[in-house]
Amino acid sequence: MNWNWVWVILILFWTGGFAWAADNVRTALRHRHERRMELISAERRERQALEAAGKPPEPVCGCTHHLAKHDKQGRCHERVEVPVAWDENKKPVRYEAGQCNCQQYVGPQPLSQVYAEELTDL
Ligand SMILES: [Zn+2]
Ligand SMILES: [Zn+2]
Repeated sequence: MNWNWVWVILILFWTGGFAWAADNVRTALRHRHERRMELISAERRERQALEAAGKPPEPVCGCTHHLAKHDKQGRCHERVEVPVAWDENKKPVRYEAGQCNCQQYVGPQPLSQVYAEELTDL
């Protein structure tokens, strides 16, 4: 056995091993980079959602009618179609003109709205 051959084989193993290790490191780094890009885009999406939430809310009541349709007592004066007959699938088939019986909600603000207002100060 010629010792030179042993060295050649050892060096081949080493360099091969190094290349393999370097490849692994590169893959790991790329994965981390991808993960980072994911995080950045997630952050951006979150910011867009916050910006959307920060927009002044439409002056629309929970009954979907404009707040201007409500009187000072909060009663909605919008005319609505009230179903008076239903088919066997509980789908309304006949409507009659009626008045929206909404009593505009005047209690404490919903939490999400409070948050939105705080965020717009930033
Ligand atoms: Zn209303
Ligand atoms: Zn209404």
